[in-house]
Amino acid sequence: MGFNETVLICDEVDPVLNKVLQENGLKVSYEPQITPDQIKEKISNYNIIIVRSRTKLTKELIDNAAKCKIIARVGVGLDNIDEAAAKARNIRVINAVEGAMTAVAELVLGLMLALARQIPFADREIRNGKWLKKELMGTELKGKYLGIVGLGNIGKRLGRLAKGLNMNLIGYDVIPIDEAFSKEVGLMKADLGTLLSSSDYVSLHVPLLDSTYHLINAEKLATMKKTAKIINTSRGGVIDEEALYDALKKGNLGGAALDVFETEPAIGNKLATLPNVICTPHIGAQTKEAQSLAANIIAEKIIQILRGVI
Ligand code: NAD
Repeated sequence: MGFNETVLICDEVDPVLNKVLQENGLKVSYEPQITPDQIKEKISNYNIIIVRSRTKLTKELIDNAAKCKIIARVGVGLDNIDEAAAKARNIRVINAVEGAMTAVAELVLGLMLALARQIPFADREIRNGKWLKKELMGTELKGKYLGIVGLGNIGKRLGRLAKGLNMNLIGYDVIPIDEAFSKEVGLMKADLGTLLSSSDYVSLHVPLLDSTYHLINAEKLATMKKTAKIINTSRGGVIDEEALYDALKKGNLGGAALDVFETEPAIGNKLATLPNVICTPHIGAQTKEAQSLAANIIAEKIIQILRGVI
């Protein structure tokens, strides 16, 4: 059965999404460079709006989406979509929850290893003509305590990978953590305070909500070990960046690796000037496999919704 709904894809997505939707009869406009003004002008013509991270679907835009039935994010976090505005217009908001878990968890492993062995710094100094072997004494991840805040898809995937490196796992979530998973990886459940004060590495995997905004603030950073390192691949707003900068600058924290920032693109962010910080430009889900998986998940969900299956 073919469908005739109209679809506006506002960001760059894996071509498989366009292909599957068209094969099912949907009329797709692929406009990965579209501006908010252009969206506002034409959003009323479409039944389905698809975004990744670049496009922010604000209340103002959604209030113009007169025919829209579905808003889809080819990714996990929904903080670039005004969900309340969508709900008020009876628009379903869908995402690709399982799409990025391996990509993000593997990036966290890479960032932990990069912090432990100062890999980016070592590479930079070689390019500067310096052979800093003696100065580059690192530490191993084996036996270190990794605190995972948020044990959803990504947090759990990270737990499984880190167990493979013989790290000790501590976990905190606001909902009960899966018992079978905890047993499998030997995860100790703790409150956030205990996790922060006991961990050598802390990795954040919570969504950005009112309740998680600045979850890691000056007070919490002060309870962490001076040698501890924090990794944030969730959302920038989960850490108070000013407080993090202060803690790192004063030597009250060992290091940080950040893939996400309060304001992106984070060009000129002063955290990137600190020697004990590694920054990446929000590349957590930026793997071929994750993008293709997310696009397939979204295509499948849209077809199922149109068929009335889900
Ligand atoms: P998920 O929904 O599977 O898991 C999130 C977990 O956080 C849930 O178990 C939830 O109960 C928990 N949580 C919520 N509030 C909490 C709090 N205050 N304290 C502790 N735990 C809390 O989501 P996921 O797929 O694991 O993704 C997590 C986040 O990672 C996403 O919301 C998104 O913002 C971010 N993300 C980033 C990238 C990237 O490119 N860097 C890619 C994908 C996802």
